[in-house]
Amino acid sequence: MLIRRELHRRGLRYRVNDRNLPGRPDIAFTSARVAVFIDGCFWHSCPDHGVLPRNNREWWRAKLTRNVARDREKDAELDTMGWVVVHVWEHEDPIRAVDVIEELWRSRRRSPARRAAMTPRPRVV
Ligand SMILES: [Zn+2]
Repeated sequence: MLIRRELHRRGLRYRVNDRNLPGRPDIAFTSARVAVFIDGCFWHSCPDHGVLPRNNREWWRAKLTRNVARDREKDAELDTMGWVVVHVWEHEDPIRAVDVIEELWRSRRRSPARRAAMTPRPRVV
């Protein structure tokens, strides 16, 4: 997967399909609590490319609607756990998606520098 490779190239480390997380995100950054789902245009009803198959239309409509509802449920569960959720459509430019993910990761991870900045300074007497 292009997105994973690019994230890795940029030095970001992540878990893949972590079973302990709701929805088993495609990519999860544990310390930053960023969960990424790469959504297929068909299975997740992309507004641009989501189509209903000609045969068994109603069955498909119900199934695809359930998929989307489940996505939102998992998002809500992750949100409750303090995670931020990113959904990337499979049709999206992977490099742009990685830019967004990296930005989020940077803003949310607890870097040593930030931790140091948060520790109380010695008081000047
Ligand atoms: Zn699409």
